[in-house]
Amino acid sequence: MTATRVLVLNSGSSSVKYQLLDMRDGARLAQGLVERIGEETSRLKHTPLTGGGGESREQNRPIADHEEALKAVAGELAHDGLGLDSPELAAIGHRVVHGGKFFTQPTVIDDAVLKEVERLIPVAPLHNPANLTGIRTAMALRPDLPQVAVFDTAFHTTMPESASRYAIDVKTADEHRIRRYGFHGTSHAYVSRRTAELLGKEPEEVNVIVLHLGNGASASAVRGGVCVETSMGLTPLEGLVMGTRSGDVDPAVIFHLMRVGNMSADEIDVLLNKKSGLIGLCGDNDMREIRRRIDEGDQEARLAFDIYIHRLKKYIGAYYAVLGRVDAVAFTAGVGENAAPVREAAVSGLEELGLTVDGELNSVRSDEARIISPEYARVAVAVVPTDEELEIARQTYALVGDSDRRHA
Ligand code: ADP
Repeated sequence: MTATRVLVLNSGSSSVKYQLLDMRDGARLAQGLVERIGEETSRLKHTPLTGGGGESREQNRPIADHEEALKAVAGELAHDGLGLDSPELAAIGHRVVHGGKFFTQPTVIDDAVLKEVERLIPVAPLHNPANLTGIRTAMALRPDLPQVAVFDTAFHTTMPESASRYAIDVKTADEHRIRRYGFHGTSHAYVSRRTAELLGKEPEEVNVIVLHLGNGASASAVRGGVCVETSMGLTPLEGLVMGTRSGDVDPAVIFHLMRVGNMSADEIDVLLNKKSGLIGLCGDNDMREIRRRIDEGDQEARLAFDIYIHRLKKYIGAYYAVLGRVDAVAFTAGVGENAAPVREAAVSGLEELGLTVDGELNSVRSDEARIISPEYARVAVAVVPTDEELEIARQTYALVGDSDRRHA
């Protein structure tokens, strides 16, 4: 039997998101989420998607750790006839946030890979330990199965040094591995490729600015399918205004807060990552709520929106300059896919650059990738729903591919 299924795991510190896909056609067979692992109120929500989909099932009981979580997931999948022991399972693909400079490609996980991901913990203290726990647990459950790490940073490793280096003392930077890595790479890779497809071109033929606007947000400049610049840096804090992250600030804000505000490094970390961005500006980080408040005349929400758009526009202009020629600007993720006013405001006034949206096309609600600029526009503006799980599954499957041999 040919093994064509890939299980995609995205392990957080207290959660595991998963999808099982069939790579013959990319169909989703099941998906789910385990959250609040280690707490009394853990929850597993599993949705079977075969045969038109079934009712979601929930387990509301304490789930002590990732091992118990994955065993519970395996149980739910087995209930649908999709168990992890099935010979049809080709591989498990793991989202790994930080691959540093070293991992430029999806990689089959072995001890050396685990060691390297562990070595990167100082630059990704929140994410890499959780990703590692997920990998180790899955490996213990199916030691014979190929497990592949797909890195959020990999797509950005093609950035030239002029973009990836900070202008700080080289020795200090190298000693502490300080450079711009970029994140959301799986999404930027998928969306830039899909945008080329939408234009009826090969990725090599087009230059695209991708705006991934979710709760976390990042922009990238992709020249001929190759990433040449992205807005997140050493960590996901740099760049655009996000749901709860500040994005760019003068670095002096940090030592000013230490010296004058008597705040510790950890306190400032929390301030800039969790209490800034839209939530810091107006108390809400959900764009729907912010738009509702603006419609009611709320000035605080209006200013938060304006700051968000101002930054976005600056990045569009900067990446236009980096690329020289732009064929498309693609909006993706929760805000980018759904918030028409954000898309409209982000390109308004940029007609001279060939950028504009058609009001009617922009307001259409759809889950499909689509172009929202008028036909005459020099630059296509597109909405391209991202699909990180499909991209992880594809990259995983491309690597371990035809596994007939293993099951022969
Ligand atoms: P992440 O994966 O980073 O958590 P998502 O890509 O799912 O984020 O985006 C979540 C955000 O998308 C929400 O915080 C909200 O601001 C925004 N969002 C979701 N749906 C809509 C909508 N219909 N209109 C406007 N914004 C939306």
